Amino acid sequence: MTASFPTGTILGYPRIGRRRELKRAVEAHWSGAVTLEELETTAAELRRATRARLVELGLGRDDSSIPESFSFYDQVLDAAVTVGALPARFDDLRDADGQIPLGAYFTAARGDGERAALEMTKWFDTNYHYLVPEIGPETAFSLSSDRFARQVAEARADRVTVRPVVVGPVTLLALAKATDAAPEGFRPLDRLEDLLPVYVELLSTLRAAGAEWVQLDEPALVSESLNAAPGELADAARRAYDVLGSATRRPAILVAAGYAQLSAEAWTTLAAAPVEALALDLHRGAVPAPADGLSGKTLVGGVIDGRNVWRGDLAAAVAALDDLRALGAPVAVATSTSLQHVPHDVADETALDPRLASWLAFADQKVQQVATLARGLRDGRAAIAADIDAAAAAAADRRHAAGVRDGGVRARIAQLTAADHRRPDYELRLAAQAAAVPLPALPTTTIGSFPQTGEIRRARARLVRGEITPEEYDGFLRDEIARVIDLQLDLGLDVLVHGEPERNDMVQYFAENLDGFTVTQNGWVQSYGSRATRPSILWGDVSRPAPITVPWSRYAQSLTDKPVKGMLTGPVTILAWSFVRDDQPLADTAAQVALALREEIADLEEAGIQIIQVDEPALRELLPLKAADQPGYLEWSVGAFRLATAGAGTATSVHTHLCYSDFAVVIDAIAALDADVTSIEAARSRGAVIDDIARSGFSHGVGPGAYDIHSPRVPSVAEMTDLLQRAADRLPLRQVWANPDCGLKTRGYDETVVSLRNLVTAAAAVRARA
Ligand code: GLN
Ligand code: ZN
Repeated sequence: MTASFPTGTILGYPRIGRRRELKRAVEAHWSGAVTLEELETTAAELRRATRARLVELGLGRDDSSIPESFSFYDQVLDAAVTVGALPARFDDLRDADGQIPLGAYFTAARGDGERAALEMTKWFDTNYHYLVPEIGPETAFSLSSDRFARQVAEARADRVTVRPVVVGPVTLLALAKATDAAPEGFRPLDRLEDLLPVYVELLSTLRAAGAEWVQLDEPALVSESLNAAPGELADAARRAYDVLGSATRRPAILVAAGYAQLSAEAWTTLAAAPVEALALDLHRGAVPAPADGLSGKTLVGGVIDGRNVWRGDLAAAVAALDDLRALGAPVAVATSTSLQHVPHDVADETALDPRLASWLAFADQKVQQVATLARGLRDGRAAIAADIDAAAAAAADRRHAAGVRDGGVRARIAQLTAADHRRPDYELRLAAQAAAVPLPALPTTTIGSFPQTGEIRRARARLVRGEITPEEYDGFLRDEIARVIDLQLDLGLDVLVHGEPERNDMVQYFAENLDGFTVTQNGWVQSYGSRATRPSILWGDVSRPAPITVPWSRYAQSLTDKPVKGMLTGPVTILAWSFVRDDQPLADTAAQVALALREEIADLEEAGIQIIQVDEPALRELLPLKAADQPGYLEWSVGAFRLATAGAGTATSVHTHLCYSDFAVVIDAIAALDADVTSIEAARSRGAVIDDIARSGFSHGVGPGAYDIHSPRVPSVAEMTDLLQRAADRLPLRQVWANPDCGLKTRGYDETVVSLRNLVTAAAAVRARA
């Protein structure tokens, strides 16, 4: 007998803790200050507090409406470890019964002296990073952790019936990459039939531990950006859920597909599958067409946006749930995705303008909105009329508030023409730039930031606490810039940077200095593992009240005759790493940010800066999951970059930086950016991207990252010489730059100095051979 699905639920909750308790505990454990047992105790307390909070906010203790979505690091790693899908290099870390203990889990996530960590990449079109499982023909799947079952039992002991949340088998395989040992053409999805028995076993342990429902997350079924076609993924889902649904000892199954519309094939497949409930993203997707096989299933409408921070429109949510009900199955309400992408609680933001705060909903407010909508489903719309009206009133207030629409900004945007997006021909620019700033072949540079030392962070904290004056802080930053310039002169780099010591974060810094944004105090969101970011909230029309980076760049340039690069964050990245207003197209918001950056570039030129870098590491991340949406996205995102940069003079060299190496996917867009020089990640792929660049015919300057800054390892002269030589062999030398593959802010000075010295030596060696 199956328990019915709760009327309201969320698909997952932030797991880092309201004050990042998990981060502190986990990092203390890594540093040796806290034992594994103490860490487990802290985590259990955090889970208990989360369940209590969710009950307080209106979810039920015993109806499976509370998801158990805790993770020590990452939900994909949780699933991979549970089914034993770690590559062979971690085998010796298993315990005597072949189980994978927490220590091994962390080693897979972080690596150690001898073992490389699993690779990390972005989860769908979000800024959350998951660990990429490595699966080959040799992977021996077996139930290797009882953590999910233990957490269910732990909740039971507190008399809470939770619904464990596990990444489903199709998504786990679709997101995995082949092991090095796998033959050409092998794909992890080929192993589905071998994996399913382990999921069957997992379901039976969850049932035995007291779970009445399990949530299997299958967002792969919405994506058209994976290495498998939607039809193929849907077919995998049919095979998977035929098997899991027929298991005899199991909880009822909710298959959840957030982040976009389920593919048509996956929808008809799942509608007919022997599972008990389906969760659909009705925020990013629409109510699907009628399908066969729905009877007896609950349809869970994800009408409250799990990814952004705006207070949901309850009237629209009720209407969407009504449309869903028209499909003829019982309906429940949920968030569109896990709430792991939003901060905990607006009530923690005491410094926020109360009016702005009334427009927002973080995780806890979203839980309340779900609980309200559930009440509406049970008792009728009239029962929640006051809440619907309050939400509508907040939305109306927001529409009319000062700053949401700024006539001046809108007038400037309206005047733009195609010519504002175009620079003179590249060859003309190249000549003018070479005359303005003569550089040797294979010029050396860095990506912008230098190490953010404890001293810098302490000075910033003291400024915030009022322990030093803004003038003292300014003086401190100037000294820091002078030191970084001296160091670069000593190292012999050709194009210098000021080091970005004034920036806490490459997006927040700009948000703090532009109108239309606000920042939070406690709005942390997990980025990966123990790392969290505090995205700014972009709520109004964007403009630049005053120059932002100009004083720092001007000062840095005053210290040397060598060129100092100005350093800006691009419009797409500013959008991607903020919570963005949802009341107008992203394209319009991007154009406003671009215009503000365009003014900054003009002022940098005025201040004598001749090379300006506009970073766009998130250009790839925002690429829509649906193929049909991608051309439109690329058009506006590239357009925003060009609007930001095309005001630069012919002799001003515009650089850009992208962090990733899946260059082939976005090569046309990168070319369309029309930057003079583009630096990209290359070291981790051992320079393979250089071949992609050569094949693509890309003719502007390119700096293939000569070493990986994500590790403290110091690269040797020989390995960087090899990589740069490879570039020099494949591409005209005039195109190639020598630089690390990203900013140095997370590194220490010891390894930075030696690494850069080696880079300069390697560049000189390749130059000498040319
Ligand atoms: N200029 C930035 C830095 O060096 C770029 C960072 C990034 O690409 N993520 O820190
Ligand atoms: Zn980068």
